[in-house]
Amino acid sequence: MSQSFSTDVLIVGGGIAGLWLNARLRQQGFATVLVERGSLGGGQSLKSQGIIHGGAKYALHGALTGASEAIADMPRRWREALAGSGELDLSGVRILSDAHYLWSPGTLAGNLTSFFASKAVRGRVDQVKGEQLPPALQHPKFKGKVYRLAELVLDVPSLIARLAELAGDGLLAAERIEPLREDDELCGLVVDGREIRAQRVVLSAGAGNADLLTALGVEQPAQQLRPLHMVLAKGPALKPLYAHCLGGGPKPRVTVTTHPAADGQWVWYLGGDLAEADGVARDEAAQVQAAQKEIAALLPWVDQSQTRWATLRVDRAEPAQSGLVRPDNAFLAEQKRLLVGWPTKLALAPDFADRVLATLQRDNVQPAGHAPLPELPRPVLGQPVWEALLP
Ligand code: FAD
Repeated sequence: MSQSFSTDVLIVGGGIAGLWLNARLRQQGFATVLVERGSLGGGQSLKSQGIIHGGAKYALHGALTGASEAIADMPRRWREALAGSGELDLSGVRILSDAHYLWSPGTLAGNLTSFFASKAVRGRVDQVKGEQLPPALQHPKFKGKVYRLAELVLDVPSLIARLAELAGDGLLAAERIEPLREDDELCGLVVDGREIRAQRVVLSAGAGNADLLTALGVEQPAQQLRPLHMVLAKGPALKPLYAHCLGGGPKPRVTVTTHPAADGQWVWYLGGDLAEADGVARDEAAQVQAAQKEIAALLPWVDQSQTRWATLRVDRAEPAQSGLVRPDNAFLAEQKRLLVGWPTKLALAPDFADRVLATLQRDNVQPAGHAPLPELPRPVLGQPVWEALLP
């Protein structure tokens, strides 16, 4: 049985970038279809730490040049959406922490001096003490300094579920994608045998973009994958902590976020430098040991006797680095009717959608009348990684 239908914008990839864009387009009256071959959010999005960065991390190594960069505005835009008064209504989405923290375990690290002088953080960082400290740091033995950043941390599973609701009937579970051409020009895609015509095709398939571009015979933009080796810990003694812990270098020594497991326990999800180059080179057992050593050194009062550990290897998919790529903006490239990009951060999904909407406006692409969609097989929601790895 082959179907044929049309839409305004056909999106491939149901991670944060595709789902956010899809919801914004629908809200503006565009007809959309979003194709997902796995589960919604099951690529990088549900493996992310859910931090809605405002750029503080980049200010640590001076990559963020000023408050005008897109990322500086992201916490405000997300907060408005979460309050139900923003560009999307995300009012049911769970906020795990209203702030992310910067934690310097010893004396004030040298790199913090320039950090506090940076335009990007001025006036947006407050030192916290005593009862204001994150629960995991409230201990008489705790030494060090903690600063509250104007960033927040979200429960990504509830975010993905809400965006799937906002997608209405436009989600399509499908695997095989081929170009649909008219007079040698791309006019849509053939998706598992269905011919879907569209005014624009957007590839927001994360690490899948490279293969999709090859299937469409397009060479640019090139993609790069950055491997990470994350660590998860689950146990009754763990309390919430959302913080970049600073070492001597420009990157956080470890970045901790805390996520609720279905059985009521907390799961610590550890990234930062721990998960980068040296961590990627370690095998799973050595990576767990390295994490245990870090945590024992930083939080020696936490009883880890009942904590269970696991690791997760995952690639960040991004445009190949060049002078043109900024870490603090989403990336979008275009070739006639085809748009392709990577948000580069979960937090930058609104910026990714802005960029697509700007091209539609520039090209005067308007919602056109389309017949109602046939009933489509719907992709499932992805599951939180900690449920799979530490049930
Ligand atoms: P994905 O979420 O990877 O979605 C792409 C989707 O496309 C997938 O569902 C996939 O199945 C689908 N797909 C692929 N190929 C095809 C195809 N051929 N046909 C149909 N569907 C296809 N960012 C932050 O802002 N804050 C953080 O705290 C943060 N932490 C992170 C931690 C880790 C460990 C990692 C890896 C990333 C983190 N990020 C964070 C970055 C963030 O997760 C990503 O930038 C973002 O999720 C990318 O979203 P996406 O929609 O582009 O890609």
